[in-house]
Amino acid sequence: MPIYDFQCNQCDTKFDEYFRSASERKKLFCPSCKSGNVKKIFSVFGMSVKGGGAAGSDGGSGGCGSCTASSCTGCGS
Ligand SMILES: [Zn+2]
Repeated sequence: MPIYDFQCNQCDTKFDEYFRSASERKKLFCPSCKSGNVKKIFSVFGMSVKGGGAAGSDGGSGGCGSCTASSCTGCGS
């Protein structure tokens, strides 16, 4: 599950948003001032390549590292 960081252009508040897929688009609002004027900023944790197997730092949420599934229901761990 991709996680992207965003920053509000109005009040500079940084926040992150989860996306179900890398191609999903949804309207984002600043959690602080409710402005829709936000921009995407890139972070290391947001860079997850699907099927690449290079997602080493997943923060311990979801996946076991030996499969590409987001939830380990199929790999037996
Ligand atoms: Zn804001």
